[in-house]
Amino acid sequence: MTSAGIDYEPVIGLEIHVQLRTTTKMFCGCELSFGDPPNVHTCPVCLGLPGALPVVNARAVHFATMIGLALGCEIAPRSLFHRKNYFYPDSPKGYQISQYDVPICSGGRLGDVRIHRVHLEEDAAKLVHVGTSGRIHGADRSVVDFNRCGTPLVEIVTEPDIRSPAQAHEWLALLRVTLRQLGVSDVNMEEGSLRCDANVSVRPVGSGQLGTKTELKNMNSFRFLERGVAAEIARQTELLRGGREVVQETLHFDPASGTLTSLRSKEEAHDYRYFPEPDLVPLLVSGEMLAAARAEVPELPAARAARYERELGLHPDRARDLAFRADRAAYFERALASAPDGLGAVELANWIPQLVERIGSDADPSESRVSPEALAALAAMVVSRQASRDAAREVLRTLVAEGGDPRAVVEREGLGALSDDGGLADLVARAIAADPDAADKVAAGNMKAIGPLVGFVMRETKGRADGGEVTRLIREQLAVR
Ligand code: ADP
Ligand code: MG
Ligand code: ZN
Repeated sequence: MTSAGIDYEPVIGLEIHVQLRTTTKMFCGCELSFGDPPNVHTCPVCLGLPGALPVVNARAVHFATMIGLALGCEIAPRSLFHRKNYFYPDSPKGYQISQYDVPICSGGRLGDVRIHRVHLEEDAAKLVHVGTSGRIHGADRSVVDFNRCGTPLVEIVTEPDIRSPAQAHEWLALLRVTLRQLGVSDVNMEEGSLRCDANVSVRPVGSGQLGTKTELKNMNSFRFLERGVAAEIARQTELLRGGREVVQETLHFDPASGTLTSLRSKEEAHDYRYFPEPDLVPLLVSGEMLAAARAEVPELPAARAARYERELGLHPDRARDLAFRADRAAYFERALASAPDGLGAVELANWIPQLVERIGSDADPSESRVSPEALAALAAMVVSRQASRDAAREVLRTLVAEGGDPRAVVEREGLGALSDDGGLADLVARAIAADPDAADKVAAGNMKAIGPLVGFVMRETKGRADGGEVTRLIREQLAVR
């Protein structure tokens, strides 16, 4: 029987590895490495030398607890470390210390995706493939950099709640800003401090059962995650439509060619022979440790965005733009605190993207020359019609270059708004006289034709005229209702 006519829906669950930004490694005193020469941060513990004993990094436990609280997990008062045995050059001990059946955090939710568990473990060393050919797989030899070995990781495992490649991308972005706000990780996918595996299956729409899944390893950018998952959904759907079956396996997505290749099948799956780590006692999270972690969980991006919408009336997209960047949110809130009466949060918030556009989207606005107070003062001048919108943009450019007080810049550059008594009515009359064609159309009610008339006035005033006022005067002089 073929299943050609059936519609399939994707089901996606993510497993995310996050390098914690501690000072030292998970089980030893070696410093974490940030682009240091290879193999300078090692010791008998992280090199797996005989007799060396691990000691749990308290800061890593603190960070894992903060993550668990931020994701609404249960924090286990007592959890266990296990040995996950495998043999590979990136693991000198022959096993990884991880958590198995009793992780530090379980349950929870972020946005519309449930969290299955969060556990602590250690990173492997980094294999570097060196080849004269330049091709990784045709490499002449591989060398090992042990600096990364033993770096603290949390693994966050979601429930299979994601239903599209775009949702996977969006949700991972939300997780990333949340972790960034917590300050527990650099969360940089390109540098590997945030790594994502995607589990993918498809099933007939409406089915309550899960299909056979495959696992896409190490999607190292948001774009590749989205593309890889989409490619895998298409592959599985085609298999099922052709009456064939999905085989449970681990896949590699090659972003260059867009193809998926099998790394290993279910039969080749590792048997990790987990057993409790005999060199570590159970991990106890006390009431004081919980309280200390709770005290350090700040307002998180999703909650902040919701507050901006609810309390300040910001548009959801604008609320997210600000709330998902801690630096912009901090700047915005400082500007808001200094906003004079009459300047609404919505009007003020509209200025942040304009500032960001000028300083670059990676820059922290607080480090620009434009103080939050100055931006608020500028926005207020527009609201009170002391400066036109165009003039204010001009002022912003000056502020970005030189800093200072917007009122002084307006004064100095003669950018104050022109009102009717500033000769605006005369200018409007000249605009009408200069373009009778456009004037006729506007007079006949075609407001789309007003552009050249407004443009004339703006040119003549170098943008100082208030657009709304110019339009009003044109309509008045042409007797348009
Ligand atoms: P495994 O034992 O193979 O590691 P788990 O049940 O631990 O599988 O789940 C690992 C990840 O795969 C989780 O993120 C989970 O949400 C996801 N997952 C489990 N089953 C499916 C499925 N049928 N389709 C898509 N994702 C799934
Ligand atoms: Mg797994
Ligand atoms: Zn070490």
